Amino acid sequence: MGEQREHQWERTDRGAVNDFAHEIANHNGPRCTVCGFFFCENCYPQGWQRTCPGPPPEGMAWDWVGDGAGHPPEDDELETYRVG
Ligand SMILES: [Zn+2]
Ligand SMILES: [Zn+2]
Repeated sequence: MGEQREHQWERTDRGAVNDFAHEIANHNGPRCTVCGFFFCENCYPQGWQRTCPGPPPEGMAWDWVGDGAGHPPEDDELETYRVG
């Protein structure tokens, strides 16, 4: 019904969004505890505007990797992969 869902970001012990939940080399940013979305807040600040697709299907994970450095796939390109 067009509901805008917000990511539930990993938090630090002090309750702030953890900007280093995701870190690859000198790329870092937050990560969602629900869908696993992560992005580099330096290269991809628009990541803050993305909505949360919710949890992936059982036994699967959303494939957010994209180029690996912080440019995740667009919502209509988002796929899942099997985990475990
Ligand atoms: Zn999310
Ligand atoms: Zn970056």
